[in-house]
Amino acid sequence: MNYSILEERKKSIIFKNDNAYLDCDKDSIAGSISQRACVYSGARVVLNPITDAYHIIHGPIGCAAYTWDIRGSLSSGSENYRNSFCTDLKEEEIIFGGETKLKNAIQEVVNRFNAKVIFVYSTCIAGIIGDDVKSVCKDAEKKFGIRAIPVNSSGFLGTKSKGYKAACEAILKLMNNKVEKTKEPSVNVIGDFNLAGETWIIKSYLETVGLKVKSTLTGDSNCELIKSAPNAWLNAVQCAGSMTHLAKRMNEIYGIPFVKISFVGIDDTKDSLFKIADFFGDSDILLKTKKLIEIEEIKIKDDIYHFRDKLKGKKAAIYVGGGFKAISLIKQFDELGMKTVLVGTQTGKKEEYEIIKSIAPDDAVILDDANPAELELFLTENSVDVLVGGVKERPLSYKLGIAFCDHNHERKHPLCGFVGAVNFAKEVYESIESPIWRIVKEI
Ligand code: SF4
Repeated sequence: MNYSILEERKKSIIFKNDNAYLDCDKDSIAGSISQRACVYSGARVVLNPITDAYHIIHGPIGCAAYTWDIRGSLSSGSENYRNSFCTDLKEEEIIFGGETKLKNAIQEVVNRFNAKVIFVYSTCIAGIIGDDVKSVCKDAEKKFGIRAIPVNSSGFLGTKSKGYKAACEAILKLMNNKVEKTKEPSVNVIGDFNLAGETWIIKSYLETVGLKVKSTLTGDSNCELIKSAPNAWLNAVQCAGSMTHLAKRMNEIYGIPFVKISFVGIDDTKDSLFKIADFFGDSDILLKTKKLIEIEEIKIKDDIYHFRDKLKGKKAAIYVGGGFKAISLIKQFDELGMKTVLVGTQTGKKEEYEIIKSIAPDDAVILDDANPAELELFLTENSVDVLVGGVKERPLSYKLGIAFCDHNHERKHPLCGFVGAVNFAKEVYESIESPIWRIVKEI
C-alpha cells in the first residue's frame, strides 16, 4: 500500500482484490482517533428506546450527552425514555466515591417519577473509582420494590460492541422466566430502534402476512412487553451487530430460534420476509408474503426507476456501525446502478467482512474501525459522489465537499422496507445533485 497509513492500521485496510485477511473485531489503536463510540454509548443506544424505563448515568455530565435526542427513536406510548438522569460526578466524588450520590439519584427518580424500572449505567469514572453499582442497585431494588438494573458499561472496557452485549444482558434481566408460547405464530423483532418509525413498518409487514409481533426490542418497546418476549416462536434480528447476542442468549435460555434479517434495500427486504415466512412453513403465511411483496413493489417501481436513471454510474462510500447494514447497503447501491468504492464499519465481524469482500466491486477499499484521516484519504482518492454514514461522518463529508446520506441516529424519515428504499434513493439523489457542491468547488 503506497498510502500514508499508521503501521499498526495496515492490516485493517484491504482492497477487495488483495489476497489478504482483514484484521477486525479488536480494540482500537490508541492515538488513531477511531470513529467508534465507547462501551457506554453502545449500551445506551440499545437500551434507550425502551419507552417507559428510566436511565441514570453514573458518571460526569459529559457522558450524559448520549440521550434520546441523538437517536430519535419514536414511541407509540410512554415518553419517559426521552428524559435522562445523571449523577454528575465531580472531583469530590472522584476522591471519596460516588455511591451515596447514586443512591440519592435512584431515590429521587423513584420519588419524583414513580419509576418502576431504572437502568443504571457505569461510565469510565465510575469504573475507575471503583463504585459498586451492582450492590447499590440491589439495595435499591429491596428498598423501593423496583427493578434497578446495573449496566456494566465503563467506556474503557473495550469497544462499542461490548456495550451492546452489556445492554443485551441487562434486557435479559427484565424478561420473565416462565415461558408460555403463544398459540398463534409469533415473532419478536429485535435490533430495531424505531428510528423515524421503522419498527412500525416492519411490524406492519409481519402483521399483514399473519404473524403476531410479540415484542419489538428495543424500538417502541416497554418493560411489560419485554417481559413477555420469551413467549414468541421466533426472534428476527434486524441489527445483527447490536443484538445477535440477545438472540443467542434467548436461544440458550428459552430455546427460541432466530434468523438474521435486514429491511435495508428492496432485495434484502424481500429475502427477509421470505426467511421469516419459511421458518413458519405455513402456506397461508407464504402466500400472503408473496402478495405483500407484489403490492409493495408495484407501489415503488416508478420512483425507483426514476432515481436509478439519475444515479446510474455514481460512486458511493459506506461507513456504518455494523457489517450487516454495510452488506445491505452495497446491494442497495447495486439496485440503484451505483458502484460502492469504499466500505467500512465500526464493529463488523470476520464473517461479515467475508461477505462484504465477496460482493463489493473489484477495486473497492474495505476498512475496519477507520479514523477520519483514513476516510478522508480514500474518499478523495476514489472521487466519491456520496458517503453514507452516521453522525460523526457528516462533518467530514461536508468539509470534503462530498454529498452525505445519514443512515443513523439523526434522520427523520424511515430508510427501511419498500418505502424506505424510495426515501433512500431520493435522499442520495438530492444530496448528490445539491447545487452546494458546485458552489463549494467554485469558491
Ligand atoms: S463512558 Fe468514558 S468514554 Fe464513554 S462518554 Fe463517558 S467518559 Fe467518555
